[in-house]
Amino acid sequence: MFPVWTWIVGFWLGAAIGSFLNVVIYRMPRGLSLSEPKNSFCPKCKKQLTPIELIPLLSWVFQGGKCKGCQSPIPFRYPLVELITGTLWAVIWYQHLIVSTNDLVAIQGADPIKAVGYMLFAAALVAAIFTDLALFVIPDQINAFMFLVGVGMNVAYIVNGNESAAWLWGIPSSLAGALVGIAVLWGIAFFGRLAFGKDAMGHGDIKMARGIGAVLLPMGAGISFGLAVILGALGGGVFYFYAKGREQKIEAAKAAGGKCEPGSAEAKSQEVEDEEPYEPESLGSLLKCLVGYVLLFDIIGLFFPKFYENYFGENPFDFEGIGDDEWEPGITTIPFGPSLAAGALATMIFWAPLSGMVNQYFDALKSP
Ligand SMILES: [Zn+2]
Repeated sequence: MFPVWTWIVGFWLGAAIGSFLNVVIYRMPRGLSLSEPKNSFCPKCKKQLTPIELIPLLSWVFQGGKCKGCQSPIPFRYPLVELITGTLWAVIWYQHLIVSTNDLVAIQGADPIKAVGYMLFAAALVAAIFTDLALFVIPDQINAFMFLVGVGMNVAYIVNGNESAAWLWGIPSSLAGALVGIAVLWGIAFFGRLAFGKDAMGHGDIKMARGIGAVLLPMGAGISFGLAVILGALGGGVFYFYAKGREQKIEAAKAAGGKCEPGSAEAKSQEVEDEEPYEPESLGSLLKCLVGYVLLFDIIGLFFPKFYENYFGENPFDFEGIGDDEWEPGITTIPFGPSLAAGALATMIFWAPLSGMVNQYFDALKSP
């Protein structure tokens, strides 16, 4: 469809979207508007950023990773999100918008609907990874967006003529994938709660799994969850040692006679413990949420917040306590969302070899 070199266009489009995702990642979980203020600003000195400071990747590099106004460091997360999104978009562009016959990489045939859908989906996954890592929350809007992308892709196929196939396979498999996602993740939450009396899975993860299933369909969802468990085990180990190292540092500082400044990780976690004793979610509430997620009440509720509040008992746009900056999670708090999202990204990018492996496995089962 396009010549091979155009992947670079995909890269820079993706990097620009990554720049927007940085705004989403900062503002959305803090309940701030995405459109007001219009201009991006430095969170430290509130300086409005000029166009030259808003070029993806390059601005950060040429400013040496510092704000032009106050010289405070700009977190590495900003260029990282731009680089990751740019890379993902370049790969998706390459796989679904470029067709050449003699190619080493498995090309799956030009499919603009898939390309656009996957690019939007990838962007939402990147946003989910970083809000979850930074603030332990995946905004409902992001999860709703993933689901709508999945269904939207199939509606686009219908509009573009492949009607019978889309009605027969597209929309039903998309909805089946969404149900598989809810079933697996909610199942872990429910049985974890039953067996260990603890919250085993965040609700954001359940809603994200629904979106993953809607886009990648049942088999893709299954592969994603398998990869997520592997990535989670690896990532959890890294996270554990990171948190342990930090804890030891705090302890060493205390032993050396230094006092923990208020607002430090230690003081904050102490406060949290004093305020609300840990109480796992009731099974009734889990069941009620299951019904709500299957019937898409959380997505409908974004348009009718009163309805959301009546059903789920909370305002979808109220993220109390989140973004009070420098909130540090405890050592046992490991978010599963990033692994889940990374598993979905890997499944999407490496679809050809992964689905080949799964098919081979089932073929081997069939033939004695
Ligand atoms: Zn500044």
